[in-house]
Amino acid sequence: MDPELINDCVHCGFCLPSCPTYVLWGEEMDSPRGRIHLMKQHVEGTPVTDEMAGHFDACLGCMACVTACPSGVRYDRLIEQTRAVVEREHVREPADRALRELVFQLFPHPRRLRAMRVPLRLSAGLRRRIAPRLERVNPSLAAMADLAPDPVKRVRLPRRVEAVGRRRATVGMLTGCVQGEFFPQVNAATARVLAMEGCDVVIPPSQGCCGALSLHSGRPGQARRFARRTIAAFDRAGVDTIVVNAAGCGSTMKEYADLLDGVWAERAREIRTVDLAEYLAELGPVARRHPLPLTVAYHDACHLAHAQGVRSQPRELLTAIPDLELREIAESAICCGSAGTYNLFQPEAARELGDRKAERVLATGADLLVSANPGCTMQITSAIRRSGAAPIPVAHTAQVLDASIRGLGRVA
Ligand code: SF4
Ligand code: SF4
Repeated sequence: MDPELINDCVHCGFCLPSCPTYVLWGEEMDSPRGRIHLMKQHVEGTPVTDEMAGHFDACLGCMACVTACPSGVRYDRLIEQTRAVVEREHVREPADRALRELVFQLFPHPRRLRAMRVPLRLSAGLRRRIAPRLERVNPSLAAMADLAPDPVKRVRLPRRVEAVGRRRATVGMLTGCVQGEFFPQVNAATARVLAMEGCDVVIPPSQGCCGALSLHSGRPGQARRFARRTIAAFDRAGVDTIVVNAAGCGSTMKEYADLLDGVWAERAREIRTVDLAEYLAELGPVARRHPLPLTVAYHDACHLAHAQGVRSQPRELLTAIPDLELREIAESAICCGSAGTYNLFQPEAARELGDRKAERVLATGADLLVSANPGCTMQITSAIRRSGAAPIPVAHTAQVLDASIRGLGRVA
């Protein structure tokens, strides 16, 4: 943990109301200021105690405090460094260790996730029925059973999708692990929208996990390996701009140059990572938008809004669609509780935040929820199901734009 970054905090407390765990529990040590205080204690010689690790583990890494802090404290860097220290120095309970091992052996590996598709599809009803009972035995397994989406038909994307009409740009596209395996329709829509807006879209088949999950969980070594492989895959494909449609992946890839050293950091600097909405807003539209008579609630994924500062662009893209009405979700800056693997490792807190978010989403009365992060999509879908309210379909910004440009009249 970098003492200089720790000392940037002047303890003003402006960040407290923005912190989801402080909002939930009102405990100083579960606020950004409290956690920074614990980091300072550790730097000054206190070993990582169980209690300390508990407060760090309870942090979602949502970065709402980074946005709120008037002193520019880099809590994002601090918590990343802290998680690595916790992983190195803190001995976890065997059950916790086993769960973490399972998650990290599965999620950053698209092929292993693919192997899960059939059992997940066959067990959808059963999983949802046993989840409440599993809750008493192991809340993390219950969360896994409940959150996993029903896999949809696999979509094979070509290596290259040609621009429709005059080519305006050539971009690479990240397919992602969870996005690619559980939401392939989002990737297909992303490629179509980019092509219809005049981009040649290059999709290297050798790309894998971007490293976000590992980096946000205190495994920087694994994150660096994934980052180098991702850079090499897009380098070989000859693209210098990578469009990303998953908020968590995009925010990590934008930080590659800081994560890596030497020649890899140089190579990272030569590649530009850009969020899909950010890119489309910057490129400007050429494809005609057809009406979509829909009321839409837009959910700000933390790693898009707080970590990348992408808030206005998705809203601009959505409101430019004729007949589409955009509704804001109250407390939009507060995390839904997904936060990468948080809803698996901290299921109770994630559930409270998920329920809170579902309530506010339902209060909008929207026909459709738009979310640009697969984790948020699963988390909010599960919370709405738990609430017993009528389900609201959830789509990615790319799917809404795709439906409008193709004149489908509805979001598939
Ligand atoms: S990252 Fe989120 S949960 Fe963690 S301290 Fe900051 S605001 Fe709180
Ligand atoms: S992190 Fe920023 S806002 Fe929060 S207490 Fe420290 S200086 Fe104040």
